[in-house]
Amino acid sequence: MSTPPTGEQRRRFGLPHRHRREPAQDFAQHHDGDATGGGTATATDSGTGTTMETSTQATGSHGSSSFRSLDADSVFEAGAPIEDKKAPHVSIEKRWDERKFNAKLVNPANRRKLSVIIVGTGLAGASAAATLGEAGYHVKSFCYQDSPRRAHSIAAQGGINAAKNYRNDGDSVYRLFYDTVKGGDFRSRESNVYRLAQVSTQIIDQCVAQGVPFAREYGGLLDNRSFGGVQVSRTFYARGQTGQQLLIGAYQALERQIAAKTVEMHTRHEMLELIVVDGRARGVVVRDMVSGEIETHLADVVVLCTGGYGNVFYLSTNAMGCNVTATWRAHRKGALFANPCYTQIHPTCIPVSGDYQSKLTLMSESLRNDGRIWVPKSGEDKRDPREIPEDERDYYLERIYPAFGNLVPRDIASRAAKNVCDEGRGVGPGGLGVYLDFADAIDRMGRKAVEAKYGNLFDMYAQITGENPYETPMRIYPAVHYTMGGLWVDYDLESSIPGLFVAGEANFSDHGANRLGASALMQGLADGYFVLPNTINDYLASGPYPKVEEDHPAVVEAVESVKGRIETLLGIQGTRTVDSFHKELGHIMWDYCGMERTEEGLCKAIGRIRELRDEFWSDVKVLGANEEINQALERAGRVADFLELGELMCIDALHRRESCGGHFRAESQTEDGEALRHDDEFAYVAAWEYGGEGKPVLHKEDLHYEYVEMKQRSYK
Ligand SMILES: Cc1cc2nc3c(=O)[nH]c(=O)nc-3n(C[C@H](O)[C@H](O)[C@H](O)COP(=O)(O)OP(=O)(O)OC[C@H]3O[C@@H](n4cnc5c(N)ncnc54)[C@H](O)[C@@H]3O)c2cc1C
Repeated sequence: MSTPPTGEQRRRFGLPHRHRREPAQDFAQHHDGDATGGGTATATDSGTGTTMETSTQATGSHGSSSFRSLDADSVFEAGAPIEDKKAPHVSIEKRWDERKFNAKLVNPANRRKLSVIIVGTGLAGASAAATLGEAGYHVKSFCYQDSPRRAHSIAAQGGINAAKNYRNDGDSVYRLFYDTVKGGDFRSRESNVYRLAQVSTQIIDQCVAQGVPFAREYGGLLDNRSFGGVQVSRTFYARGQTGQQLLIGAYQALERQIAAKTVEMHTRHEMLELIVVDGRARGVVVRDMVSGEIETHLADVVVLCTGGYGNVFYLSTNAMGCNVTATWRAHRKGALFANPCYTQIHPTCIPVSGDYQSKLTLMSESLRNDGRIWVPKSGEDKRDPREIPEDERDYYLERIYPAFGNLVPRDIASRAAKNVCDEGRGVGPGGLGVYLDFADAIDRMGRKAVEAKYGNLFDMYAQITGENPYETPMRIYPAVHYTMGGLWVDYDLESSIPGLFVAGEANFSDHGANRLGASALMQGLADGYFVLPNTINDYLASGPYPKVEEDHPAVVEAVESVKGRIETLLGIQGTRTVDSFHKELGHIMWDYCGMERTEEGLCKAIGRIRELRDEFWSDVKVLGANEEINQALERAGRVADFLELGELMCIDALHRRESCGGHFRAESQTEDGEALRHDDEFAYVAAWEYGGEGKPVLHKEDLHYEYVEMKQRSYK
């Protein structure tokens, strides 16, 4: 017998409010004939290989109502504009030096008295914890894995960018800055991106000093390769394991501080709530994932480095544990969430193989340095790819974008793959794939050289697909990979809650509407090793902040809400598994808020997500107890937050009636089918305030381009 939470429980435990139907003229709800299992919800872009048909069948009969006449502007409220007040008003090259110089300092003897909570031990969190520990602060570090070095950063394959210009091919800080602003389709903040490019060179020096085994070329210099959206070679790499090697570097630096007792490490602890006292972030509530104990940790400042939320789509290249809980809980406590709809769909992933799959695998973008992407010219051509002659192949990226060829940015390459598949020329099961072919590269460089460069990626492909990519072309298809949105931060990486800093993929970052390859690792390490350690001191030096006790009403309230939420989740005892909700949400997100978005589809998605959320809170079944290792409970909390985030993503995508980068609104495209921006209306960061029982509130941060001219992107 299921027991949905009462209104009082919802209020006390921070649960979502039961969705009230909007007035008829606003959301006119009707059934479109697909309400019972087996119905066809939609057959739109089904890039995961499993369409909405599968989702309604696979998850049983969940009413699927659509929202006929939604006014896109009625789902949110307009708030006051915001701006970044921390970047100094000097020329862009001098901004970072100026900020560092003007930031207040904390003397080394006083640092020992100050405590910093850092949630997350990926590249951003581990580098921040190691650096702040070394600086002498008392750091408490948290992660949900059993070791800091299992953070998702370990999965990064291809490389990390830096404007070293080792190849003498015309690279510079300015060019990296320019490429990144253009790559992000002019939706990022110039000051932050310029700093990122400046700091990039220091990251490489730092990592080399730590012993990170970057690939080297014959002369002994570090080797470089190219990634999408650029025409220089500036990507440093360690075979296909760059993230792993960088994380080992950061991890050993972190371990040194743990041994020195400047860092207190808490593994297998999941942050479930932010503690805000008198408007400032002062701590976190965490659950010991082994014993179930709910603990309170207080500090002078809190940093979230908790990664991205791509798993809202269920299927993605992210590690299974990646989630939005830490940032979403902070959002509910007042932190603005910026550009949630900006999602990166990576063009080179192994296509979905079946309904029971829970994870997708990336084939690194580095493969596009030497692999050539193509489909048969004719959709009827079902021959073995090796038998298809050259003149019957369409190397469509080389044809459409001769200047950048196979190395166009990810958003462009993904859409192009979708387009050829929509034309019926896709390959493999369901026609949802294109070839990534190394035959030319093997002819040119020899198999040994290809093996040396990409061997582990080829092995991975062979193990997953059972096909030998040295002999037959790989089949690839776009998949969800990275989220450019995240908590809004200023130049100091401070969120809209004083004392709450956010770094790495968890912040809305420097990538605008599309991230260029190899720049997430760069950003995570820039934030952790170089930016935070030079800005957090300014905040701390402005203290001291009054000591907070565990019996402070704000602390008690946070703890109670965590306990209440857990109790509620365990008490519902409905009929559906957590995963079935997650999977259904993923289908909705992919179909309506994935590679292509339309007003109609997004309205429909908002309605369906609200219904699904209501159903979750009345029919989810979470087995087991709190006082034990309970993965169903862990997942339930995360999926509950995804169900709220998903709606905000759709609202954000709905309100942005333009296409930019990875956000492709079918209604806004050029004659060539490229993303068409509307700079006069949308050149801003959309920073959303949590609406509680009401609607989310949109605060706009206008974007100004003084150093890069805004124009239609072209990679032709
Ligand atoms: C397959 C793959 C390959 C990639 N390859 C590249 C590449 O070659 N180059 C590149 O630049 N980028 C790449 N990326 C992107 C890049 O890896 C990520 O953006 C980056 O590593 C994120 O680092 P992070 O430190 O922000 O977060 P993560 O590495 O995701 O770390 C998050 C941390 O937060 C912790 N955490 C999260 N929530 C909680 C919570 N509630 N409580 C406690 N702890 C919590 C986790 O335990 C973890 O320690 C790749 C991404 C994928 C998926």
